[in-house]
Amino acid sequence: MEWTTSELRQSRGVIESYRELLPVSASTTIVSLGEGNTPLIYCPQLSKRVGRGCQVFVKNEGVNPTASFKDRGMTVAVSKAMERGAAAIICASTGNTSASAAAYAARAGILCIVILPAGRIATGKLLQAFVYGAKIVAIDGNFDDALRIVRELGEGHQFVIVNSINPDRLAGQKTAAFEIVDVLGDAPDFHLLPVGNAGNITAYWAGYRDYEPHRKSASVPAMIGFQAAGAAPIFYNRIIERPETIASAIRIGNPASWKHARAAIAESRGAIDVVSDEEILAGQSWLARHEGIFVEPASAAAIAGLLKCCGSNEAAYSFQKIPEGSRIVCTVTGHGLKDPDAIIERMKELKPVAATVNEARRAIGL
Ligand SMILES: *Cc1c(COP(=O)(O)O)cnc(C)c1O
Repeated sequence: MEWTTSELRQSRGVIESYRELLPVSASTTIVSLGEGNTPLIYCPQLSKRVGRGCQVFVKNEGVNPTASFKDRGMTVAVSKAMERGAAAIICASTGNTSASAAAYAARAGILCIVILPAGRIATGKLLQAFVYGAKIVAIDGNFDDALRIVRELGEGHQFVIVNSINPDRLAGQKTAAFEIVDVLGDAPDFHLLPVGNAGNITAYWAGYRDYEPHRKSASVPAMIGFQAAGAAPIFYNRIIERPETIASAIRIGNPASWKHARAAIAESRGAIDVVSDEEILAGQSWLARHEGIFVEPASAAAIAGLLKCCGSNEAAYSFQKIPEGSRIVCTVTGHGLKDPDAIIERMKELKPVAATVNEARRAIGL
């Protein structure tokens, strides 16, 4: 017999959990790896930084099957692609979309083609696409070039495009907002997240709004997005030809969901802001050391952003006069082990000592 995840009494996957809110029917064969149901972690140290009795929670999307939130959308996109009889899926990627697409294609038994900017993909993510057996094409260009090529190849309908321009991806990604409301009993007051191609901020906003009429929540949050300073087209309101940032997952100069992101920010009375690479790396270290959560640089943009809202007068949104007891959720989008290069650099000082108790004592500083 074939076991399903619900029979195995595990996390059921986002389609089984939220079927009535997703574009699937009884006849859709679900391709799932048990994604979603990720922890919403209360963060006492971050809450203290905000002050005023506010509560900060981190939605840890790094614990999904391929270690990023992309799996939520991919289970829906690949299930729907199978329903339509697709033999192959294709995507452009800064890393995590290809890792996720490759895994779900392997699960479905179909081909996955990924178009990547050569030399610009974090080690762990490229390794994932490779091990799941994707057909990888590296181009001499950036992500925006890769997406342009994918759009053209996808037009022939030979391949189903599984970038976030595929509405099934965004439908699946809404489930993160549903989960947050289910856990908190209401929507938070503020939702902070990194913005790259702007699909996720679009999906969260749609998810919060979809859930309101179901009387699951009495309100919707203000959506506050953060871009890397060197890759901030929405903040600066112009296409960035050569986006640059250490946070490769948000190194995007011409986001596909630009208009939707703008609408989400305007309708929710939120904001868009930028954080520097220095702030991103500091946010990454801070979260690891103070809350025990290790995230990749792009995810740390949300934490850097939160710290900016608490401190800087230049922040697009100030938390200094935020209502007491506000609830803030930060989505951390991907796991830190995917992209260890910046940290490996800092570990170089680690030198072995002689294998004696005395030497170990000295090295510890006793
Ligand atoms: C894809 C991704 C983002 C950006 O999400 P968008 O929907 O493109 O805005 C941020 N962080 C990580 C880890 C990602 O994989």
